[in-house]
Amino acid sequence: MSRTVVITGANRGLGLELTRQLLARGDRVIATCRQPALATELARLAAAHPGQLERLPLDVARPESRDAFLAALPPLLGDGRLDLLINNAGVLPSGERFGQMSQDALETSLRTNAIGPFLLAQALAPLLRDGATIANLSSQLGSIARVTRFGTPSYCASKAALNMLGVQLAQALAARSIIVLLLHPGWVQTDMGGPQAPLTPQASAAGLLSVIAAATPAHSGQFLDWQGQPLPW
Ligand code: NDP
Repeated sequence: MSRTVVITGANRGLGLELTRQLLARGDRVIATCRQPALATELARLAAAHPGQLERLPLDVARPESRDAFLAALPPLLGDGRLDLLINNAGVLPSGERFGQMSQDALETSLRTNAIGPFLLAQALAPLLRDGATIANLSSQLGSIARVTRFGTPSYCASKAALNMLGVQLAQALAARSIIVLLLHPGWVQTDMGGPQAPLTPQASAAGLLSVIAAATPAHSGQFLDWQGQPLPW
């Protein structure tokens, strides 16, 4: 059965690979990114999958961009409903040093990685079908239990915040059997993960989509890796 999916940060990295695999399995995808006009890979996918892929601008950190996206979305939804939201877009600032942390760096990570995904999910909730799924790309680096050294504090804090907001969302949407997942994709070969990462985007995306497909309401609010293994908060 064809499902309708919204995904953020779809122009490169894991977002692009997830989009590719969703299209290959026959889903309708509304792929969002900051600058669709520059997203050449998405343009290629749109040409290869006529009528299956829509591209809309969305900067998840900017409320006015979210409002414009929400206004443009309804005509693109076939029966008016969404089956899956993948909050994939994320930012990992480099070079953070203790003593030099700035208000700006902390706010950018929190806006992009935690506040944006939560507010997008909240805004899309009325359009989600009962039993739909919200998959949030979290990170093992957001696990407070696993912190062993000072490193990328704005990113770690933003993913921990995303986890808590995801658990809150799971509670808010439980009555509609909407499944909210916090997913660690593994360490993946993307611009963010770098070339030395052990996992390909193809393997990570395939694993993530299997975990999403197998999830039931009993999994809602859980923090799982790309193979479905639970992670400590
Ligand atoms: P990349 O850096 O390769 O891609 C990041 C994507 O997020 C790009 O499409 C980028 O768009 C987009 N993005 C960044 N800021 C915004 C914004 N404000 N609005 C909309 N889109 C934005 O990262 P990955 O593909 O590796 O990461 C995907 C997700 O997986 C992220 O949430 C990340 O934190 C998480 N993750 C990744 C790991 C890894 O090893 N790769 C490990 C753990 C978690 P643009 O091109 O416009 O910058």
